[in-house]
Amino acid sequence: MATAWVIAEQRDGALAPVTAELVTVARDVADEVRVVVAGDGAGAASSLAAYGVSEIIDLGPLDSVLPGPVLGASVARLVGEEPSVVIGAQTYTGRDALGRASALLGAPVLTNAVAVRREGDQVLTEHQIFGGTMVATAAAELRGHVLVGVRPKSVAAVAAAAPTAPSVRVVEPALDVPGVVVTVVDRQREEREGPSLDEAAIVVSGGRGLGKPEAYQMIEELAALLGGAPGASRAIVDAGWVPYAYQVGQTGTTVKPDLYIAVGISGATQHLVGMKGAKHIVAINKDKDAPIFQVADLGIVADASSLLPRVIEAVRARQA
Ligand code: FAD
Repeated sequence: MATAWVIAEQRDGALAPVTAELVTVARDVADEVRVVVAGDGAGAASSLAAYGVSEIIDLGPLDSVLPGPVLGASVARLVGEEPSVVIGAQTYTGRDALGRASALLGAPVLTNAVAVRREGDQVLTEHQIFGGTMVATAAAELRGHVLVGVRPKSVAAVAAAAPTAPSVRVVEPALDVPGVVVTVVDRQREEREGPSLDEAAIVVSGGRGLGKPEAYQMIEELAALLGGAPGASRAIVDAGWVPYAYQVGQTGTTVKPDLYIAVGISGATQHLVGMKGAKHIVAINKDKDAPIFQVADLGIVADASSLLPRVIEAVRARQA
């Protein structure tokens, strides 16, 4: 019998969708699933009841400190001696938490997993390597604790066969562990309208083929008209056209929208790995041999600078 401890991912106090994905993974590797949250334990209990959680452990809000290290230190204290699997999201907070817990427990952490399963006393994780062209499987013995970082959107959130009524336990966060308290002195909120990149049903992404930074405004405009989110290839993030938060791909965000529109993006494997799960892919590229066309449902060979204004006009006309 093993327990899985899920480190919840929260945004502005609310559970992020990836938490249900983590719980789904946890159910496959353990008999009992506990979720550690920072505030609103009752809300977490009601939203995760459908996913078969047995207990919610609420540390209370961690607004004035960086949450990751405190979550990690708290989980390390909570897990006890019995072997367990600690599962977090491959996000800023999740990585901070898993790293801290791993160091405190002296336990291995398998990061960036896209699938997790259990075979007897082994926890097996799958990792995409070489830009997603190959999958490597890692194994850790479940003799002590095994920590796993799961990439958001790599696993679908699936409700349990029978819902549970998770109990809520309020626990003091481990603020006394040396080095875990990083005080937040200021927060800068990036103003961004519309859905977030990882939750948007439509994503419009631009790449180097846009030619110049100002052309990215057309990407933002089209995304806004379609009620979607703008994204980017790493080439234009590295060039400083848009912030890293816009990057889609292996070292950026994984997206799985209903519609992904790639404009002036070649389709490098590191980009594809972050968007090829989209239901429908439309690519605009002036090179008919661009690799992006191999994954596109609709490929348009065209110059983005002349086509995009026409697409925007057409969408606007339909909405008028
Ligand atoms: P390019 O490859 O330069 O492609 C530009 C495309 O625009 C070309 O296909 C060209 O035909 C087309 N084009 C040019 N002019 C026009 C025009 N006027 N109209 C229409 N089309 C035009 N990349 C990511 O995106 N995300 C990642 O997370 C990521 N992680 C990486 C991690 C590692 C370890 C490494 C090594 C690389 C990573 N990369 C990532 C980089 C990746 O390999 C590519 O370099 C990058 O995706 C290329 O971006 P791009 O398609 O915008 O640019």
